[in-house]
Amino acid sequence: MIERTLFTPDHEAFRDSFRRFIANEIAPFHAEWEEQGYVDREVWRKAGANGFLCMTMPEQYGGSGADKLYSVVQMEELNAAGFTGIGFSLHSEIVAPYILHYGTEEQKAHYLPKMASGEMVGAIAMSEPAAGSDLQGVKTTALMQPDGSYLLNGSKTFITNGWHADLVVVVAKTKPDAGAKGTSLVLVERGMPGFDKGKRLKKLGLKAQDTSELFFDNVKLPASQLLGGPEQENRGFICLMEQLPWERLQIAIGAVAAAQAAIDWTVAYVKDRKVFGQPVASFQNTRFTLAELQTQVQVARVFVDKCTELLVEDKLDTATASMAKYWTTDLQCKVMDECVQLFGGYGFMWEYPITRAYADARVQRIYGGTNEIMKEVITRAMGLPGR
Ligand SMILES: Cc1cc2nc3c(=O)[nH]c(=O)nc-3n(C[C@H](O)[C@H](O)[C@H](O)COP(=O)(O)OP(=O)(O)OC[C@H]3O[C@@H](n4cnc5c(N)ncnc54)[C@H](O)[C@@H]3O)c2cc1C
Repeated sequence: MIERTLFTPDHEAFRDSFRRFIANEIAPFHAEWEEQGYVDREVWRKAGANGFLCMTMPEQYGGSGADKLYSVVQMEELNAAGFTGIGFSLHSEIVAPYILHYGTEEQKAHYLPKMASGEMVGAIAMSEPAAGSDLQGVKTTALMQPDGSYLLNGSKTFITNGWHADLVVVVAKTKPDAGAKGTSLVLVERGMPGFDKGKRLKKLGLKAQDTSELFFDNVKLPASQLLGGPEQENRGFICLMEQLPWERLQIAIGAVAAAQAAIDWTVAYVKDRKVFGQPVASFQNTRFTLAELQTQVQVARVFVDKCTELLVEDKLDTATASMAKYWTTDLQCKVMDECVQLFGGYGFMWEYPITRAYADARVQRIYGGTNEIMKEVITRAMGLPGR
């Protein structure tokens, strides 16, 4: 195996402490959370109290000013363990960065410390029932009123952390006739009149994740709820585009970690399981399948580590991040499928981590921009004609 050079001993020490947190505060409860369809709110507060939320935010806003590799460690550990109900990375590494990069000083000072402590859970609401891949087609509007406030109307679906969310960054049209150039990001808080959460959605996988619908019916937002204030009005689409490389890379990081874990579980299982009086591992088909999968996951890891290095240096472009997202998530699904096969009937039983990992993997090719959209992005960077 190629030795990884991404992490320092400090990152690895952090990995150990986060593993202990997972073992004590997540592992004993995750199966129960899958049954109920959401994680207990307590785990957010405990993560906050232990400094595991919004770590990369500056200290003045409640974070630790840590580099992104600490978040990468968290993503790897949660994905490898299969604890996919935990929405920390979306909260800390997608929602919080929008506030840090584009928010006003007041917005940063108000929201980030609460997110870092776990008092507030964050979500981002782009997708709508009729607009997922085609984000320019969002119908939700935030129209300025004579008194300078905004009136928010519309609905969102498939929102990760949606049911727990206290703060939602909502993509809305502030100038509906201007297409992408009339899109803004607005900040909506739990309890605002007219803001309702729909049902938690029943899903094929990610069963402990509280993915929800959100409804906005004449929600009156003071001008202070426009992310970034007047300076960022109608710049929402640009903000979304700027954050894409990191968001897509996060999915790839999770994909590689989950795929490697699946291979490790399968290696242990096939050495133990006997069929026709011999371990399943002794069949050439088993060994060659695992050799092929391990080769591909190793290739993926080297590529994703390189992308992470570029990200830390602020040099990762959207097309390269899209390559990582599409290729590693396709691979993740292939690895899960082949590993389930090697588990035989046990690979179809929910109590086996491989079964859950198989179910959880499928959505990786869909959210964060579908893999087909990733290929569109890559072709554009290659100078090929678009639609
Ligand atoms: C579990 C889960 C969590 C999610 N979390 C969030 C979240 O937190 N926030 C949020 O805003 N959204 C979230 N999403 C939504 C997700 O990002 C969208 O589902 C995704 O972008 C696809 O949009 P869609 O479902 O509308 O599919 P559609 O856009 O309807 O796509 C249908 C099919 O058409 C294909 N297609 C579309 N356009 C093209 C094209 N130009 N060329 C070729 N093929 C194309 C797609 O690839 C797909 O195969 C989540 C979704 C899920 C399932």
